[in-house]
Amino acid sequence: MSASFSEFDSTGGAKIFRLPLQVFPDFWAYAYIVRRERSVILIDAGSSLETSRQDLLRGFERAGVVPSDLTHILLTHGHIDHYGGLAALKPLTGAKVGCHELDLQTVTRHEAWLALASRRFASFLAETGLAADATDALLNMYRFTKKIHQPTFIDFTYDDIHAYLPDVELIHTPGHCPGHVVLRFDDVVFCGDMILENATPHLHPSTTGAYGGLSQYLASLEAFRAWVDGARLILNGHDEAIVNLPDRIDATHRNILRRMSKALRALTQPLTISEICYAIYGALEGYNALLVIEKTGAYVEYLYERGMIEIVNADEVEQGGPARYWRARDESETLEELQRVISAKTHIQEAA
Ligand SMILES: [Zn+2]
Ligand SMILES: [Zn+2]
Repeated sequence: MSASFSEFDSTGGAKIFRLPLQVFPDFWAYAYIVRRERSVILIDAGSSLETSRQDLLRGFERAGVVPSDLTHILLTHGHIDHYGGLAALKPLTGAKVGCHELDLQTVTRHEAWLALASRRFASFLAETGLAADATDALLNMYRFTKKIHQPTFIDFTYDDIHAYLPDVELIHTPGHCPGHVVLRFDDVVFCGDMILENATPHLHPSTTGAYGGLSQYLASLEAFRAWVDGARLILNGHDEAIVNLPDRIDATHRNILRRMSKALRALTQPLTISEICYAIYGALEGYNALLVIEKTGAYVEYLYERGMIEIVNADEVEQGGPARYWRARDESETLEELQRVISAKTHIQEAA
């Protein structure tokens, strides 16, 4: 996967530059510069890796902007591939940096935030029934951002954004990340990782972080769909501009449904989250193993909350053992209901 520099215009006269950044080895993200009459705004700042820092400066050069031109830096959300570059960039600018209040701790006090978050993650892993050595490996991966985090400062949170940028429009869209927001300038929308053109955004269960989970994400997606109505261009944090939002939302719903259907089909016998994860994704290694166990946790939580599956080993769970889930009702009936609740809007529209 690679990414390219690009330029766009808003109908209100803003000039927009898309900066490709290699935020991790072979993993790309985009930052955007929005140049308007009275402000030059950077949206997201890449990671703290050297490749990302170099790419960011190269992007500035191509856009004909120097870091000291920036008036504001706005984060779409507090993931390290979007804010990690701030530490190196901030001293080069006088820009005021803003993020959502729910991501303030992870961005500015990451080590302490991670210490608490990884305890919750460890408790989730204990629930999944993963083997001890795999659990240790995943916990170490979860904590890896500690090694690449650098001291980062925020000047304001979005509680107070209109004091800094009276004319920016913004909506809070938690789910992928607690403090995720979507920003809008004229008819151009910056949606971060809310929705992607070629992938389904990452999700985790709400037990490993407040404002997470599939229910929250789907609710935000519907709020976002209504809010961006009339926008001409939707630019995201990792891949190509969204050209057809209803299609893309529908495809995201279908991807989530496909994975959850696989889970439901496997649940003809009681399974742990780690066994369900294997049934959906097969055997995966490295960071992918971490991502899929979190996603599976989000799917199982959603099914469990709605009574579509149940836990069959309360005694074992009480003793600290993993939870075993079993399909509570008939397979095809449950699948139909799942389809209805996940993509209610999409399918109502199709039927009309
Ligand atoms: Zn993200
Ligand atoms: Zn991202």
